[in-house]
Amino acid sequence: MEIGVKKTVFTPKAIIHQKFGNKACYTVEEVKEESAQNGCPGLAIPQKGPSLFRCRLELPEFTVVSDICRKKKDSEQSAAHLALKRLGNNPADENPSEKDPCDALIDRIKYIFTDEFLSSLHPLSGHLRAALQRKGGLYGLIPASVIAACDTKTSNLCKLLNTEVESKPFLALSSIMRAIPRLAGSVVTSKGQLSIQKQNPYPTEIIESSDIQQSGSPENILVKAIQIPASLDETIQPLTLDISSSGYYLDVIAQKLGVTDASKVLLSRTIGKASSETRLYFAASESLVMELLSDHANVKDFHVEGLLNARANYFCGQEIYGDAIMASVGYTWRSKELFHEDVSLQSYYRMLLSKIPSGNYKLSREAILAAELPSVFTTKTNWRGSFPREILCTFCRQHQLSEPIFSITSIPLKASCKLPRSQKKLKVTEAAELATEYTNGGSLNAGGESVGLESSFRCTVKVFSKGQDLIIECSPREIYKKQTDAIQSASLKVLSWLNACFKDLGMPLEKLNCSADALNISLSSENFLKEFALCQSLHNVQQSRCQGSKLPESKSTNMEYTLSGQDVCLPNIEGSYSGVCPSNGSLLSISYSVSLVTEGGHTKELIESKDEFEFEIGNGTVVSTLEGVVTQMSVGQCAHFNMNLPPQEFILAAVDDPARILSLLSSEVCCLEYDVTLLRVTEPPEERMEQALFSPPLSKQRVEYAVQHIKKSSATTLVDFGCGSGSLLDSLLDYPTSLQKIVGADLSKKSLSRAAKILHTKLSTKSDTGIKSAILYDGSITEFDPRLCGFDIGTCLEVIEHMEEEQACLFGDIALSYFRPKVLIVSTPNYEYNVILQGSSPTTQEDDPEEKSQSQSCKFRNHDHKFEWTREQFNHWASDLAKRHHYSVEFSGVGGSGDVEPGFASQIAVFKQESLLDENDLPTQENSSEHCKVIWEWKRDDRSVPSSTRN
Ligand code: SAH
Ligand code: MG
Repeated sequence: MEIGVKKTVFTPKAIIHQKFGNKACYTVEEVKEESAQNGCPGLAIPQKGPSLFRCRLELPEFTVVSDICRKKKDSEQSAAHLALKRLGNNPADENPSEKDPCDALIDRIKYIFTDEFLSSLHPLSGHLRAALQRKGGLYGLIPASVIAACDTKTSNLCKLLNTEVESKPFLALSSIMRAIPRLAGSVVTSKGQLSIQKQNPYPTEIIESSDIQQSGSPENILVKAIQIPASLDETIQPLTLDISSSGYYLDVIAQKLGVTDASKVLLSRTIGKASSETRLYFAASESLVMELLSDHANVKDFHVEGLLNARANYFCGQEIYGDAIMASVGYTWRSKELFHEDVSLQSYYRMLLSKIPSGNYKLSREAILAAELPSVFTTKTNWRGSFPREILCTFCRQHQLSEPIFSITSIPLKASCKLPRSQKKLKVTEAAELATEYTNGGSLNAGGESVGLESSFRCTVKVFSKGQDLIIECSPREIYKKQTDAIQSASLKVLSWLNACFKDLGMPLEKLNCSADALNISLSSENFLKEFALCQSLHNVQQSRCQGSKLPESKSTNMEYTLSGQDVCLPNIEGSYSGVCPSNGSLLSISYSVSLVTEGGHTKELIESKDEFEFEIGNGTVVSTLEGVVTQMSVGQCAHFNMNLPPQEFILAAVDDPARILSLLSSEVCCLEYDVTLLRVTEPPEERMEQALFSPPLSKQRVEYAVQHIKKSSATTLVDFGCGSGSLLDSLLDYPTSLQKIVGADLSKKSLSRAAKILHTKLSTKSDTGIKSAILYDGSITEFDPRLCGFDIGTCLEVIEHMEEEQACLFGDIALSYFRPKVLIVSTPNYEYNVILQGSSPTTQEDDPEEKSQSQSCKFRNHDHKFEWTREQFNHWASDLAKRHHYSVEFSGVGGSGDVEPGFASQIAVFKQESLLDENDLPTQENSSEHCKVIWEWKRDDRSVPSSTRN
């Protein structure tokens, strides 16, 4: 940087330093996430690119967050610039703090009317040039509202003179008009008008060199805009502004607003991203013009006639009165040409939708009727659409709040990881609770002693109002290995809560606090209600209009819709069953289309469709009915189902032509018809790794292992604890065994219903098995149920690591003390083997580099694993357990070898009853109840009996 000799120009950062010294604290962070375009003008559309930076500047009184910049340095300057703006200083002013704002305003206006300014690239100079094309008495007249709205310096000075300008920008006009008399000789104003004119004409050569088109070309520009009536009973209407390339576009807007000329048009701030030219325009009433022109010393007691336009107000956070026009047109810093972009009805509904967290997510997925804000943040690999932090920042910006603050606490892991985990009591002690937290975040290095000095992270998110009042503070207890995971998860909690609030804006305070509590959110309800008061009135009205029409009765009275099982007709699944089914954690690819159909099916309008849509199953990343349907499908099958209408906004945001759909919706009873095809299922990394690395696949090897034991023991009864989708039970039927009765228990209804389907088909078609009965129970295997007792053989394959550690211990005790199978086979991953799995993970061959780095950084094989044990940990657990319950135990495994480091891929413990205990020696279970529900039952003789409980 060059050092000025004559005139030192201070950078914003330098000025901040002068003022605050080391009380100014800068934190630069890298912004890596890409977030998809949400397709509406005026909304932030972050770009994908190389490294980008954002800087947070903390000052004693407040904190600002910079725009996103390419260089760290620039982000700091940007933050400093914003801080100065907040302080009411403009760094470009020579004497930032000393000058009287009144004098500064006069100087500024004087400068705006210089010859030099006319030919500059300043957005306001475009208005000056356009004014020179106005006809007749309007020639050269500049509306004062434009000066206030398009020149940041003027607007900042006006805010200094009257703080209310922030919320009522038209009040700036009052300050400007009162400055005019002191500008005698330079500018004049015509009596009774809110406009200003240069006193002496510009020299001809200046006019000639300023690219002012003298003879307007015949070509007309048509700009789509929308009209937002002040009355909430009237609907939003499309509108076309016919802007000829000569003349003044604000006169066209004036005419549409029903006023004589541009001087009576008032402008809001720009809406959305920094470079946006989308604004709201409205007319100044006669009385407002009078008041703005009057010499009132105290402009605070302004009385504005007309109805507050709640919808317009909601979008810009400023007061707008009467009917308003939303248009994206104006002059920019980039070019002297008039910039314009269409604002369609669809854009309007999309903007409305983007104001709620789930709507923002839906838009980023471009799947309004299919996507849903996920309930948990798993990993960046599986996340699709905008990331939670991005959505939260957008949310705050859109609601005119300050940027949220994320604070990270780093927690050294070393001390607590050395806990002798195997000696843990079953009760959750404080130590156990701590350990659980690590595992929740997928962060525990199960090696225990090898953790070293690594630390893990916790994140607290705070959301502040514009005036820096704390609204929400969310401090999740979970700990994460990676900072970004901590940030994303905490952000998602806030978003989920906000989303729930938007679903039910009239929620009583008590409920509000209660739901916040559950998500570790502390809430300043007073500030919250103050900030979101308008949302409530607006969204409620949107909804009541929806209900007033002839729509089929909708169960939810909220902005967001809930899709419970009852809303959906049973899906009609077509195509043959391929056996490739989704399970929790798998990535699915579907194609779908959603149509609006009228009752009786006379009209069918396609609303949204996608040839390929990918999502992770199990976290609510799609509307729940859709998720419920796809979990019943196998690859290649199609499903059709109908659903009740969501709130209108969702439909209108999805369609190109909302006006036509709106009229259809209000004249007919409609519902939505979904057509879905399951294209692909990509299993969670664990299964992919196992299939790629082992032949036969590990799961097959586990089944064979169990079969060996069945043969040895000539078992006739088998219970599979945590049977999942029934892979073991299903495969067992392929072998000739002595088994007569097989039972499975699990607490996942989805998995059980899949197991039921598969077993049912197989048992009904195979006649060569000796199986006489098969039952599937829905219930937890950590609770006693007499029907699971006394089996010849019990299996529990790859299940315990899906429970919290103390639950796994509890299962061991219950299994060996109450269920007491003669043989119990327990398998679980060998943590030490992960280096091998991950080192040659098939994901490294995939072209997504993000996925590669993710799979390497995920310590466990599967995101649902709560822990993975080393051989030593497993041995310790099993030996201790066996000893306490009079069983012997032997260790073995599948995948790899037990003699070669690092041991088997899946470690197995085989427990055998040492002696049959006397009936009386068996512990008795008081009040033993049959807590498991029979989900499905099959008997050889009377064929299958589908249980009534099956759903
Ligand atoms: N044994 C199966 C499934 C393993 S996945 C196989 O090898 O393919 C783990 C399963 O454990 C899941 O289906 C999950 O629902 C089940 N599970 C986890 N905790 C459980 C509990 N407390 N009671 C019953 N099932 C449980
Ligand atoms: Mg597992």
